[in-house]
Amino acid sequence: MITTKKRTFKQHDNEKDSFYKFSAPIFRDQPKINDNFSTDICIIGGGLTGLSSALNLSKKGYSISILEANKIGSGASGRNGGQLGIGMRKDQFFLEKMFGYEKAKFFWNLGLEAVNDVKSLIDSYNIDCALKPGILHVGNTKKDFIYFLNEIEHMEKKYNYTKFQYFDEKNIKNEVNSDRYFSGMLLEDSYHLNPLKLTYGIAEQCLKEQVSIFEKSPADKIEENNNEILIHSGSNIIKAKKVIIACNGYLDNLLGSIRNYFMPINNYIIATEPLGKELASKMIKRNCGVIDSRFMIDYYRFSEDYRLLFGGPETITSKFVKDSTNFVSKRMIKVFPDLKKFKIDFSWGGTLAISINRLPIFGTMMNEKLYYGHAYSGHGLAMSVMGGKLISEKILNKNHRFDIFQNINHIKIPGGNIFRRPIYSSAVIYYRIMDYLNRL
Ligand SMILES: Cc1cc2nc3c(=O)[nH]c(=O)nc-3n(C[C@H](O)[C@H](O)[C@H](O)COP(=O)(O)OP(=O)(O)OC[C@H]3O[C@@H](n4cnc5c(N)ncnc54)[C@H](O)[C@@H]3O)c2cc1C
Repeated sequence: MITTKKRTFKQHDNEKDSFYKFSAPIFRDQPKINDNFSTDICIIGGGLTGLSSALNLSKKGYSISILEANKIGSGASGRNGGQLGIGMRKDQFFLEKMFGYEKAKFFWNLGLEAVNDVKSLIDSYNIDCALKPGILHVGNTKKDFIYFLNEIEHMEKKYNYTKFQYFDEKNIKNEVNSDRYFSGMLLEDSYHLNPLKLTYGIAEQCLKEQVSIFEKSPADKIEENNNEILIHSGSNIIKAKKVIIACNGYLDNLLGSIRNYFMPINNYIIATEPLGKELASKMIKRNCGVIDSRFMIDYYRFSEDYRLLFGGPETITSKFVKDSTNFVSKRMIKVFPDLKKFKIDFSWGGTLAISINRLPIFGTMMNEKLYYGHAYSGHGLAMSVMGGKLISEKILNKNHRFDIFQNINHIKIPGGNIFRRPIYSSAVIYYRIMDYLNRL
């Protein structure tokens, strides 16, 4: 039996709206649980992992119920940077070193499939989520060009993949009008989009497939009872044949010590007032997403109404920073000093889960009646949709792709419940210093 008392999802209770909530159509409130019932599959967490699992499995005839502690999309899925990137969070050099070429290739192909799946969902269900092509990786240091050129060459030679464009010091300024960068590499198969619109679009489709969604209905206890699982939410009990845990950074101790394999961190984004198409195209010529090359990255892009959405700084504390507008603006002004004169209309934060090797964590418990997938490590917009697909494949006994992830030997964040935040913070401070020194 596992219970949870901590409630990270409550961080959002007193928040002002994000740009995404302002811009997305209303997703009508779903009922709170107020009865006991039985279902084939109960999914805990109404983000992209949970919704994608629900959509895949509902089509196979299972009865599905989603319990969401807050509102659908109120976790990271509806508040992220919107960068729909190919690959995994770590590059192929790292993956090949760690797992060998064949497995690294499997991860690479899965990353491409994940982005394609999101595009297919958008097309099939006509989800209007402002999808735009291209993510540009920009180099903050004079040395980054070596890495970009090596990667382009390696990907062409070993993967027969050529959808990159390289920009040298002279040309990168033409792409992103900032003095911060020395080189860049455009990923043509990556995209950016409004993630809350995507999440609501998939949730609408789940409702059409007869998935029951309950909001404001946190699961607080899970127990195995012979051939079924009992999920407690307040005074109600749901009996399920299988349960999927899709809580990512908001998991707290719902799965006991499983949470020690990742670090929940908070990341923050601001949205300027609309800057207009003309200024936007002077700042980012091809309206792609941008991600820089530091350990603590800056990422930004223009919204559908030409606000700059700028994100990046993170905290490891268990609570959000008080003044996230100021916290993020300082970094934005370093990249685009002229933006000082524009208003910041929205500012918000979200919690995500980071594993040590930056690969997602999948597993089963309770004699394969409980499945979980989380820790996409900041690269989960496409991979959480894929996560739901992998969990469904496992439940349907379809192929071994879930097992490849399940068999990865993840390392626990050292320090247990008390010391893991300080230990992880020290590591982050080290890398921040390296970011700073690399720029000198
Ligand atoms: C600020 C920010 C920026 C990011 N930017 C990017 C990006 O640009 N590109 C990218 O690829 N990835 C990005 N990510 C990561 C990406 O958003 C996540 O990996 C992905 O959304 C995870 O989806 P999920 O469904 O697993 O989790 P979430 O969307 O976090 O959903 C988990 C849900 O579980 C619910 N929950 C928690 N506990 C319970 C409970 N006990 N009972 C019921 N429900 C519960 C929560 O309320 C929440 O809605 C970013 C994340 C953040 C926070």
